Amino acid sequence: EAVFETGSTNADLLARLNDLGTLSGPLLRIADQQSAGRGRAGRSWLSAPGAALMFSLAWRFQGPLHRMTGLPMAVGVALAETLAGLGVPVQIKWPNDLLKGGDKLAGILVETCVDKTDGAIWAVIGTGINLLMPDALEQQIGRSVAAAPWLAQMDRNALVAALLSRLAAVLAEFDDTGFAPFAERWNALHAWHGREVVLLDDGQVLQQGRAVGVDAIGRLLLDTAGGRVEVLSGDVSLRLS
Ligand code: ATP
Repeated sequence: EAVFETGSTNADLLARLNDLGTLSGPLLRIADQQSAGRGRAGRSWLSAPGAALMFSLAWRFQGPLHRMTGLPMAVGVALAETLAGLGVPVQIKWPNDLLKGGDKLAGILVETCVDKTDGAIWAVIGTGINLLMPDALEQQIGRSVAAAPWLAQMDRNALVAALLSRLAAVLAEFDDTGFAPFAERWNALHAWHGREVVLLDDGQVLQQGRAVGVDAIGRLLLDTAGGRVEVLSGDVSLRLS
């Protein structure tokens, strides 16, 4: 379902899942503009009408809930590989931001809920990809961000179809296997591989070390002065140090 403007495509689908009762198929919601786009931990995703491709996909999983910690990273792999195939090479900043030329091109937000009828897990996977970046929007965001004007010229349906077909294949595989088979692909796309980084929680430094990739469940591996630590994504943010 495509709409011109909504608050947040993720919020719309989460509300819809509550109302629908038993449903097994995926749901898709695409918007040209979001007035209350969401990022992780209550942050916001900003956009201008028609400047970004924003969609959310609700997908039903059989797998155990603890496995879902790796899902945002698997989604990052699916989208990054599709964009590369469309001529827009990107890298992934852990856990799941897509960077182009070092700046953020796309954000991914995964929110989960449990189906009350049978305990299955629904994940609502939201993504926003900047196609154009008007100066006023970049100023509003307040940091240097990337856009992909080449994709803005592509037929929008073809673009959505390319992204969704690989995403659906990755989600089906992920539900069978978890993140493990994607770890190597993620590491090949790792934006800050071998770089010194700091891990922040609400502005506070939690860890400092060298980012050396992800493990089989999608945790970031950091080589710190005190040895190797594994970090679960949660609400933490990563910065170059
Ligand atoms: P960060 O990107 O700061 O490391 P994060 O990965 O948790 O944090 P998200 O929560 O996914 O980021 O996205 C929200 C953040 O993305 C905002 O705080 C803002 O800095 C940035 N942002 C908002 N709108 C856009 C946009 N259209 N393009 C790129 N970045 C944006």
